[in-house]
Amino acid sequence: MNVKMKLEDLSLEELAYIVSFYFGDQSDTHRLTSTRTRVERMDICSGCEHYQKITESDTDDEELIGKSTCTECGCILDYKVEEIMQICPEDKWGPSKKDWLENVYPLMKEFIEEKGTNPLEW
Ligand code: SF4
Repeated sequence: MNVKMKLEDLSLEELAYIVSFYFGDQSDTHRLTSTRTRVERMDICSGCEHYQKITESDTDDEELIGKSTCTECGCILDYKVEEIMQICPEDKWGPSKKDWLENVYPLMKEFIEEKGTNPLEW
């Protein structure tokens, strides 16, 4: 039997578990992060000691030249700041509550109420 629950009934741990499966299935989660959040995150990064601009001497990949990287986590920041699930390894920024409430919550609510809370049954 497929037991359906409401998003509001789930604990934080249950929600985090479901969200990790949900996003694993979605290829374009970057669209869920607002432009404002991306700019705020990049502003923090660009003032951080771990921020590094990628130059021709760092890579042969032309697509990466001019972008920036974090020497702490190794991520390409131009992509990292777009991803809704990303966090700074130094705890300087994290998920935006506003983005979650406006962009993720409605999708998750609809998804869970339609498919239930067990990823194995999706
Ligand atoms: S992700 Fe965090 S540690 Fe890395 S550059 Fe940005 S602010 Fe610095």
